[in-house]
Amino acid sequence: MSAGTKPILGLRGIRKNFGDLLVLDGIDMDVSKGEVVCVIGPSGSGKSTLLRCINLLEPPSEGTVILEDKEITVSKGDLDFVRQRVGMVFQSFNLFPNKSALENVTLGPEMVLGRSADVCRERGLELLARVGLSSKVDEFPDRLSGGQQQRVAIARALAMDPTVMLFDEVTSALDPELIQGVLNVLKELASEGMTMICVTHEMKFAREVGSRVIFMDGGKIVEQGPPAEVLGNPQQERTQKFLGLVLDR
Ligand code: ADP
Ligand code: MG
Repeated sequence: MSAGTKPILGLRGIRKNFGDLLVLDGIDMDVSKGEVVCVIGPSGSGKSTLLRCINLLEPPSEGTVILEDKEITVSKGDLDFVRQRVGMVFQSFNLFPNKSALENVTLGPEMVLGRSADVCRERGLELLARVGLSSKVDEFPDRLSGGQQQRVAIARALAMDPTVMLFDEVTSALDPELIQGVLNVLKELASEGMTMICVTHEMKFAREVGSRVIFMDGGKIVEQGPPAEVLGNPQQERTQKFLGLVLDR
């Protein structure tokens, strides 16, 4: 976090268990506006669960999440407040198959935010242009490549005007030649000042775009810091071991 900037998102002592399985074991984290936090770590270390606890897709078992000065982990918390402000994009794009690219993008703001069809259409076209899909607005998902579908999914999340975007391995399901197009969209978003938390295996992306890298293992933050330090000169043995197994860094 850059000095003097107030966090837009704060996690305090987040623990999450599924039955006997402790998946998040006391996560503390502050994210300030415009930060790009890249979360890395082995499979099963709790990365997805962490993102899901941030937007309350999973309620944390313990601890608090504070979003824009408001504690959202209170019982009967304001889910609309959270869903509107925290956008999430997953590995699987989950577009509505029977809706066009544009309709996929306009549906949320029309239904949830109650915006007019015209306003949503205008903004939808603008967002699809931003992710490089101006020529595909009327296509249905099955006529789009995985990379294009993922970019629609990103435009759809942006259509809600979120203050924070969560990305969970958004390039993992893509063919290698489609990955860069999606990473470029993320890169551009970052340069425009979007606050982002990206779970990723793309170490080059984390290095170039991340303001901070967090390494998680066993439901804990093991190490964090500037990308060049965490990736280039990790201090913890577990981080060293994990990065030793990563080919492309
Ligand atoms: P990562 O994203 O780092 O691979 P996850 O957060 O998906 O890790 O999962 C962490 C652990 O929690 C795994 O052992 C996983 O099997 C378990 N887990 C995740 N979601 C659930 C769930 N809904 N019910 C039970 N166990 C779960
Ligand atoms: Mg995961």
